[in-house]
Amino acid sequence: MRIVLLGAPGVGKGTQAQRLAQRAGVVRISTGDLLREAVRQQTPLGMEAKRYMDQGALVPDSVMIGLVREQLAARRGVSGYVLDGFPRTIAQADALNQLLEEAREPLEAVINLEVKEEELIRRLSGRRTCPKCQRVYHVDSAPSAKGLQCEACGTGLVQRDDDRPDTVKNRLSVYRDQTRPLLDYYLERGLLRGVEGVGPVETVTERIVQQLGRS
Ligand code: AMP
Repeated sequence: MRIVLLGAPGVGKGTQAQRLAQRAGVVRISTGDLLREAVRQQTPLGMEAKRYMDQGALVPDSVMIGLVREQLAARRGVSGYVLDGFPRTIAQADALNQLLEEAREPLEAVINLEVKEEELIRRLSGRRTCPKCQRVYHVDSAPSAKGLQCEACGTGLVQRDDDRPDTVKNRLSVYRDQTRPLLDYYLERGLLRGVEGVGPVETVTERIVQQLGRS
């Protein structure tokens, strides 16, 4: 399985990528998680990326392409992956094509998760995450059974800096301008599959699996 999950911030890419990867026995490569880890460890990459992330802007293509090239090279020979959060620009998609062509490992499909903007804002503003194991909750619709702590590891939950209202607006407009054009890009290449991202998490996973023809 080699697939890309596309969609606006808050659409559920991370959750679905995790579930799909687990189910198919492949890895999930989340560029957002990789960057957040680099920020936590205060590496040079993390320090550069943080400036952009805090504003809801995209980290420059050259940085992202280098990061993904390393990730894919480190995983050559594994049975596949779910790319979550990459590509986000046409330049990134072109670079990904080139990397995959060189490796003779074409993408199987690009799944676009679709959710209305009002619902995205609701999801992002109520989202809480575990800074340790990255598990995601929602204050209303998916609260932790342990209240303000992560169910899995007991760590205190936090609101991501970029889930604050002003940054959320900016991320959605960056998505519209820079990432949404990828829908036509992958449609033209015959890879795009649209999936409604509303409803129980399990139902959305089933829809994706069906679109992939893997049920
Ligand atoms: P995410 O967790 O995927 O929403 O990513 C969080 C933030 O990391 C984004 O708002 C961007 O600032 C940055 N980021 C993640 N992936 C990319 C990418 N492919 N290109 C540029 N910036 C990215």
